[in-house]
Amino acid sequence: MTHKLPRILLCAVAFAGALASSHAAHAAGVKPDAHSALIAVDVQNCFVTGGTLPVKGGEEVVPVINKLAGAFENIVITQDWHTPGHASFASSHPGKKPFETIKLAYGTQVLWPDHCVQGTDDAALHKDLQLPKAQVIIRKGFHKDVDSYSAFEEADRKNLTGLAGYLRQRGIKTVYVTGLATDFCVAWTAMDARKHGFDVYVIEDATRAIDLNGSLAAAWKQMAAKGVKRIQSSDIQS
Ligand SMILES: [Zn+2]
Repeated sequence: MTHKLPRILLCAVAFAGALASSHAAHAAGVKPDAHSALIAVDVQNCFVTGGTLPVKGGEEVVPVINKLAGAFENIVITQDWHTPGHASFASSHPGKKPFETIKLAYGTQVLWPDHCVQGTDDAALHKDLQLPKAQVIIRKGFHKDVDSYSAFEEADRKNLTGLAGYLRQRGIKTVYVTGLATDFCVAWTAMDARKHGFDVYVIEDATRAIDLNGSLAAAWKQMAAKGVKRIQSSDIQS
């Protein structure tokens, strides 16, 4: 008994400590540091009202991301950047319509309206996005036969964009993912960031979703399973 009691006490103390620290972390929020980066995913004309593949309320992320940017030393922007006639476009597959799926060499691909074609105004960043501190823009989906929701890896899971290497060489350990759309490019970027060894937060109110056939709930579940943390912009301390 004299041996067991201290062990039980120790467990109780450790458990209480864990509870207290997790509560404290939530109450105090999270504070980005020099090893943190904000990633603004695909805040482009194509994905907002008036664009070729509008996400409902997509433009509403702009002021949220602009405000968040003040808390970050390091900012990465991504752009969906397709060739004309890209494999992810329904128009490239006779008889297919947008939002249907097709089997491509690397797996099932959702087919989209033509969107974010390289060099077009549709593919430009939203005019009100103000991220002058941003240090790199990663363009993705530029191989004609391969889509890339993720800012880290193309959909064939073979071609890398270079973002993981960039972040690692810059000493970044934690990424905070925002932008469009929650259940596609944000989710894939967040999960691949975990795969490449980063701590990952998705700032929910700085994203908007497409929610195609339950894709939003599925994405949150998959992200949670991979250790992606879901927070709100009010949780970020500047
Ligand atoms: Zn795309």
